[in-house]
Amino acid sequence: MTDFATTRARFHLPEGVIYLDGNSLGPMPLAAPGHVSAMMQGEWAEMLITGWNKAGWMELATGIGNRVGRLIGAEPGHVVMGDTLSIKVYQALASALELNPGRKVVLSDNGNFPSDLYIADGLLKSLGTEYELRVVSPEDVAENITDDLAVMMLTEVDYRTGRKHDMAALTKAAHAKGVITIWDLAHSAGAIPVDLAGCKADFAVGCSYKYLNGGPGAPAFIYVNPKWVDQARPALSGWLGHEAPFAFDLDYRPGAGIERMRVGTPPVIALKALETALDIWDMTSMAEVRSASIALCDQFIAGVEAACPQLTLHSPRNGADRGSQVSFRFDDGFAAVQALIARGVIGDFRAPDVMRFGFTPLYVSPGDVAAAVDIIADVISNRLYDRPEYRLKGRVT
Ligand SMILES: *Cc1c(COP(=O)(O)O)cnc(C)c1O
Repeated sequence: MTDFATTRARFHLPEGVIYLDGNSLGPMPLAAPGHVSAMMQGEWAEMLITGWNKAGWMELATGIGNRVGRLIGAEPGHVVMGDTLSIKVYQALASALELNPGRKVVLSDNGNFPSDLYIADGLLKSLGTEYELRVVSPEDVAENITDDLAVMMLTEVDYRTGRKHDMAALTKAAHAKGVITIWDLAHSAGAIPVDLAGCKADFAVGCSYKYLNGGPGAPAFIYVNPKWVDQARPALSGWLGHEAPFAFDLDYRPGAGIERMRVGTPPVIALKALETALDIWDMTSMAEVRSASIALCDQFIAGVEAACPQLTLHSPRNGADRGSQVSFRFDDGFAAVQALIARGVIGDFRAPDVMRFGFTPLYVSPGDVAAAVDIIADVISNRLYDRPEYRLKGRVT
């Protein structure tokens, strides 16, 4: 049994803050500054370019990929880190489309994160007018799996509502129609147990700065099923995905296995910060995190519904159908979230009227949830959000 007090003690949590936004950016592991600084001073400063070999910088992308892979049920050696999630979506989709020649339709849903849809739209436009991005409602995905689809590209957990797709069932249904699957795990990795190998998912991608706590701009990951990895042609054929980057051949030959999904020089400093977060993940299991997270979310829903009839639950009520976040709709949601942040309860707002709260057992306790509910009740019942300064929008909401 994990005592979550021990994982919580590994994070820096600012005084007076109840952090319910780890679904957007996880907090800093206390070990991160020291570990990054040791790399900078002991490796970068002293070893200079020899650090690539001496300090093993070049292996970090796959070594850390394996540690992330363990949290998402990937076969060892099939996850690599690098770039941002938007780039990884592009790579996965470009490769998946080529593996299903003759079909030109990509299915996604309108609960997907816009960047995934923008990337798909951009790629399909480059490929030609015969390609189609078909976007349906999340609840209509299953009935829209037809045998003209090349690829089904979904985000498992909806960033707004927290609604969770049934990855195993949808992947199976897609395979039955000859459709290749891409799962975006941005709101799954570190939030809920994922079994990529068991589901036979074809491709998966995700970021490491949300629930995984890797830090702002932490590198993304990509998974390719062993069945495909040696056939998948990398569309972003950068030199570090080449079979022999330092042969400097003029012709591209894809690297062995997942290495081919690397593009350019790895973000070593960011990978070092992520390592410290993964050390904390080694202290627990996804099954324990999941049951604690469902309990925190249930407690939050019950507390808010009892105290704030003005707010409408926008997430599935049943824990098994949800990721690790809870959203409520409220007309003055933006201002209410600003008023909460001013009182130390950090959640976030998603247009048009969604107040979103992430629950992360690694560092959020039932006591935090109770305290957050009291503050939310005060802000809503006493209309404390009704002030002009809470209506000013910054660049990031
Ligand atoms: C957070 C998120 C992104 C963000 O992509 P970046 O390239 O890392 O900025 C993309 N897709 C989904 C589903 C997300 O939740």
